[in-house]
Amino acid sequence: MVEYYIPKWEEIEEGILNMTERMLSEDFIPDVIVAILTGGVIPAKLMSDVLGIKNMRYIDVKFYKGVGNRESKPIVRAVYVDNIENKKVLVIDDVSDTGETLDFVGNVIAMFNPSLVRTATIFVKPWSRKYPDYYYKVVDKWIIFPWDKWEVVRENTEAPVDKKERFLEILKRLRKTG
Ligand code: 5GP
Ligand code: MG
Ligand code: MG
Repeated sequence: MVEYYIPKWEEIEEGILNMTERMLSEDFIPDVIVAILTGGVIPAKLMSDVLGIKNMRYIDVKFYKGVGNRESKPIVRAVYVDNIENKKVLVIDDVSDTGETLDFVGNVIAMFNPSLVRTATIFVKPWSRKYPDYYYKVVDKWIIFPWDKWEVVRENTEAPVDKKERFLEILKRLRKTG
């Protein structure tokens, strides 16, 4: 049985504000935010609104196939990055597990010659070989975010999330019509 950690929206907000406060206390204000698709998009949007930074970029990279199930190599689908030369960059994702995604994205970003690159994820796993520069909490379970709960339920219908019955009903109807 997989054990899950299911943060509420309140905890996501707390995490974003907490990381932003620490960035400010270190006088780190990025010029550009790079979101790792797709889990990093909502944290990046929240952070960009808090900081008032409209300058966003995206990297579509994936290691994982599902819960606890990973590809051995990163799959880069697209790099939506330009114009970050000599800029301070903050790379954001929702969680860092092994640290490989952040490592890999850091290397991709470095090719664009930014002046500084820092990383932030709301959560980090205790076994991660490289912690992000900013994180809110260390969690050793599989995290179900408000933004990927249906992705998780698709993989494992036993996942303990609310409104699941309605979602499964929708899935059933989609399978009938598809
Ligand atoms: P890493 O490359 O650090 O091992 O894995 C990071 C990526 O895997 C993140 O972009 C995230 O999408 C996914 N991931 C890793 N652990 C979790 C988790 O506990 N919950 C969810 N929802 N995604 C995770
Ligand atoms: Mg991801
Ligand atoms: Mg994800």
